[in-house]
Amino acid sequence: MTDSHTTDVAIIGAGPTGLFAVFECGMLKMNCHVIDALDMIGGQCTALYPEKPIYDIPAHPAITGGDLINKLEEQAAPFNPIYHLSQQVTKLEKQADGTFDLETSKGTKINAKAVIIAAGVGAFGPNRPPLDGLLDYEGTSVFYMVRRREDFRDKRVVIAGGGDSAVDWALSLADVAKSVQVVHRRPKFRAAPESVSKMQQLDKDGTIELVVPYQLEGLKGEGDQLSAVVVKDFDGNLRDLEADVLLPFYGLSQNLGPIAEWGLELEKKHLNVHPTTMATSEAGIFGVGDIITYDNKLKLILCGFSEAAMAARAAHGYAYPDEELHFEYSTSMGVPSE
Ligand SMILES: Cc1cc2nc3c(=O)[nH]c(=O)nc-3n(C[C@H](O)[C@H](O)[C@H](O)COP(=O)(O)OP(=O)(O)OC[C@H]3O[C@@H](n4cnc5c(N)ncnc54)[C@H](O)[C@@H]3O)c2cc1C
Repeated sequence: MTDSHTTDVAIIGAGPTGLFAVFECGMLKMNCHVIDALDMIGGQCTALYPEKPIYDIPAHPAITGGDLINKLEEQAAPFNPIYHLSQQVTKLEKQADGTFDLETSKGTKINAKAVIIAAGVGAFGPNRPPLDGLLDYEGTSVFYMVRRREDFRDKRVVIAGGGDSAVDWALSLADVAKSVQVVHRRPKFRAAPESVSKMQQLDKDGTIELVVPYQLEGLKGEGDQLSAVVVKDFDGNLRDLEADVLLPFYGLSQNLGPIAEWGLELEKKHLNVHPTTMATSEAGIFGVGDIITYDNKLKLILCGFSEAAMAARAAHGYAYPDEELHFEYSTSMGVPSE
């Protein structure tokens, strides 16, 4: 049986921006279906840093990625969004009546009056180091993201990479892991200077070890259980680092996936949008959050929230061209009670 739906707005991506777009559309009395390729809502916040505090969400001096998403889900709930998870939107086609037909990798079909693309960096994928046998260890000894730092308690952890993720997790796991070694091909790290200084101090104290300049060379272990990570310096000298876990942090591969084939105007793998309406090059399709670009765009969650508000209003204008929209504060409108 085909799973078919009709809605006011289809939102592609359930990251923070997509979730807030549900709220903004709801306030304008538009219902939403939200589709995400991941098996949970929250985008980068839940997939990459659920336990890390974010410090630049207005009115939250500190809130973890996971808690922010819980709050956004709660805020969107009165508008009864329908979530379709673990499925990628593969097709998006405009119909003769100006509505849009979407289809997902699971065969779900949605007809929507307007579409908001909140797809972040597109299809998520780690940049994998080219190591023999790597796939055998994935999910048991090799992880590209940390969901719960407790999972690494008393483990011998090797972190590879020189950016923010490598440095931040080295600092965070130093408290719980049995040992932490950070492998980077340069002595200099490309991360927040304050965090790098803290990490270097931990190295001096002997709490962690910076293994620099070294590169990953191989993996040793039995079955899916890692026992050592082999590293090599620039003279070809090899060293075995005893390890239960390898965390390679070489960034995310940015793959727009099917979005690149929908005929929308792109600039460097981002959707070009109008900065006040979030309109893409196709009438009725809007973009918000990390996936879009305009002059001086900041890839910050707080900017995504404001973009969601603007996109919702513009989407309303497209979906209901004959209905005049009056500006009202949420304090006077209220939200539906469940
Ligand atoms: C380690 C780290 C720390 C950060 N710290 C901060 C911070 O302190 N402050 C801050 O403001 N920002 C921070 N950010 C950035 C912030 O997380 C992003 O700006 C934010 O997540 C973007 O939200 P989004 O909703 O646009 O996209 P995302 O969170 O990327 O979500 C997009 C979703 O779309 C889905 N998707 C993509 N293509 C499809 C498709 N075709 N079909 C279905 N689903 C699809 C993806 O699966 C994903 O779940 C940080 C990021 C990282 C990695």
